[in-house]
Amino acid sequence: MTYGGRVWGDPCPGCGYSWATTYEDALELIAGAASRYGELIRGREEKAMVKPDADTWSPSGYVWHLSDWFRIQGQRIYALASDPLYRWLHLRLDPAHLGEIFKYDELPPTGGLWALQKAADLFVEAAKGADRSLVFDIGEGDSWTVGELVVWVGHEVIHHDKDIRAGLGLRALPFSERRSW
Ligand SMILES: [Zn+2]
Repeated sequence: MTYGGRVWGDPCPGCGYSWATTYEDALELIAGAASRYGELIRGREEKAMVKPDADTWSPSGYVWHLSDWFRIQGQRIYALASDPLYRWLHLRLDPAHLGEIFKYDELPPTGGLWALQKAADLFVEAAKGADRSLVFDIGEGDSWTVGELVVWVGHEVIHHDKDIRAGLGLRALPFSERRSW
């Protein structure tokens, strides 16, 4: 059972993502995230800056979140794969805190989409050069491999596709359609 399946159940009850998604398919999702979201948001930029409710980021906020998340996780993969001095630091990093610091919800989407593509390129470059069996020891007896981390980050693209569509008032697509886009 992969990390995502252990934590959330397989498939993800929120978005239908299968944790059996391959490493290559996850990288494809990540590489295409900026154009996927860009197509949804184009012409709806102002609506993309509206929070649907207090506990949900605006569609633009999700774009900014992933631009940071891809970069942070890509850097971790690169460091683990290339530097014998690297060790996992449990930062107790909560994306919600980053959202508060950087005011994701108040940022317009164009710069976020630009940053998202750059971060995706960084992530994919790191993951393609990495040994996917390398293990991050995340403490408390748990660990995950580079392969599990990549598939988990691929999940973010699908899960937030649903969130972004909902924020824009668009119909949600079944997982099979979201995956093949
Ligand atoms: Zn999900």
